[in-house]
Amino acid sequence: MSAQSEFSLIQHYFEQLTSPRDDVLLGIGDDCALLQCPADHVIAVSIDTLVEGIHFFADVSPETLGHKSLAVGLSDLAAMGATPAWFTLALTLPEINTDWLQGFSQGLAKLAQQHNIHLVGGDTTRGPLTISIQVHGFVKAENALKRSGAKLGDMIYVTGTLGDAGAALQHKLERWNGGKLSASDIHTLQQRLEQPTPRVTIGKELIDIASSAIDISDGLVADLGHILEKSQVGARLDLSKLPLSTVMSKVETKIAKQLALQSGDDYELCFTVPSQHFAIMEQDFKHCTRIGMITDDDGLYFLNDSDELIELKGTGYDHFK
Ligand code: ADP
Ligand code: MG
Repeated sequence: MSAQSEFSLIQHYFEQLTSPRDDVLLGIGDDCALLQCPADHVIAVSIDTLVEGIHFFADVSPETLGHKSLAVGLSDLAAMGATPAWFTLALTLPEINTDWLQGFSQGLAKLAQQHNIHLVGGDTTRGPLTISIQVHGFVKAENALKRSGAKLGDMIYVTGTLGDAGAALQHKLERWNGGKLSASDIHTLQQRLEQPTPRVTIGKELIDIASSAIDISDGLVADLGHILEKSQVGARLDLSKLPLSTVMSKVETKIAKQLALQSGDDYELCFTVPSQHFAIMEQDFKHCTRIGMITDDDGLYFLNDSDELIELKGTGYDHFK
């Protein structure tokens, strides 16, 4: 951005945004940041871009947007079992709006603080509202939870509950009237869409337990599909096991299950666990649910309510068209 005053304004909002870290030898203010990676670790890097009108609605609050912009990157670090360390922020703004900047930076700072991730640089330009965040985390190379490690006989788990964010989205797009849900139920779902919780702690705890992992941004079927493809295995899901939130349990079952299977934006983790760790999963991972098993089938199948095995793709049912 050209004008010096606008530039100092940005610096005012972002330079002191997050707490310093010892491994940041030089942060915002020079041509590059200088960063120290701990010995024996590698850096896990991921970037995500959110564009107004495509990835978020123009009416979303700036605090919420600040949260979500960072949450999606933290979720990628979580899915690798990495520990968050630094991030950079490329901000494209249609105008300098101090209220917006205040809100956005607050939402961003709050989540950054929770995960001790530090803003070390960025870029600021003028144009249609677009937020791009690159996150950096540490992991030992041999510990990284990749998509490619699932093996025949592993169990498939997910964290949290599925379908909440998708339900909020369908409601917002007016493709679904919400059935019998109350205004407060809808609000709960909206929170899940707008302020997802990246599962960073669980991701790290899974390092010695999971054989593969992915975060669910595009929906369980699509994202588990990536594990299957990279690991060259198949899977069977037990639809009766899909974890639904209290709110989604009130929704007509077939709608709730379709959302849990196919809608994205929940940012839960999906991961696989070999048999020697089944016991510890049952004991210590109360917020994770076993939903199926890795098989040598060609692709993804599920058991329906009558215990029939059905191939998932091509079932073609869509309650939102
Ligand atoms: P350069 O022209 O050398 O790329 P800039 O003028 O773009 O430098 O940025 C100056 C400093 O401010 C750099 O350290 C850059 O990382 C930082 N910076 C610019 N925009 C942002 C932003 N949106 N968030 C955080 N740091 C930023
Ligand atoms: Mg620059």
